Amino acid sequence: MNASDGGDAWAGVDPDDAGAVVARALELHHPAIALASSFSMEDCILMDLLARRRKDARVFALDTGRLNPETYECAEAMGARCGLRVEWFFPQREPVEGLERGKGLFSFRESVENRRECCGIRKVEPLGRALAGLRAWITGLRRGQGVTRTDLRVVEPDAAHGGIAKISPLAGWTFDRVKAYVRDHKLPYNRLYDQGYTSIGCAPCTRALRPGEDERAGRWWWESPDHKECGLHLRPGP
Ligand code: SF4
Repeated sequence: MNASDGGDAWAGVDPDDAGAVVARALELHHPAIALASSFSMEDCILMDLLARRRKDARVFALDTGRLNPETYECAEAMGARCGLRVEWFFPQREPVEGLERGKGLFSFRESVENRRECCGIRKVEPLGRALAGLRAWITGLRRGQGVTRTDLRVVEPDAAHGGIAKISPLAGWTFDRVKAYVRDHKLPYNRLYDQGYTSIGCAPCTRALRPGEDERAGRWWWESPDHKECGLHLRPGP
């Protein structure tokens, strides 16, 4: 990597070598760095790579209150497998109660604004608390995941979170490569993948793919593709 990918500290690191990227990220930033895990296959790979280097590597997860049981089962299995302790973050009680009392339990289906409101309460606000004090965070984002991620770099400043480093070691990986790693290393994985899911978030906002659909089509399927970010990974336009 070069200066445009995060400065001289990354010189000599092959951006396609996820293990090397994780190792350098830990050297540079631990303990002020954490993986944001939703227990996707990508995040399980990153937990595996982190645990191979440090058993005190930090991982956090957002419990939105609307996750699938399979996600919790995967979280427990992956925690036991790699030995990393997961720091869970919940949304704040009062905004959730206000939303559900005022707009019901499925307001996010009614408009993009309502959906962003729910994601803001259940994901974005807890993420802000999770990132407080960090110099960098690690994500399982890949360029192949949709139109909002095609120009993703392995290391980039996160303007939405104070300019801390956002590190995506699997940026250039395909979904086939992800599945092969999980299979070859016998990692636990979310059983919803076996039902045709390729991207797994909250239960009411995620469905299995239909033939010919792209990887993120099962997320907020009632919205257009260029709206499909929950606010965790908003990036500046070109
Ligand atoms: S993904 Fe759906 S349920 Fe989850 S926080 Fe966003 S709108 Fe709410």
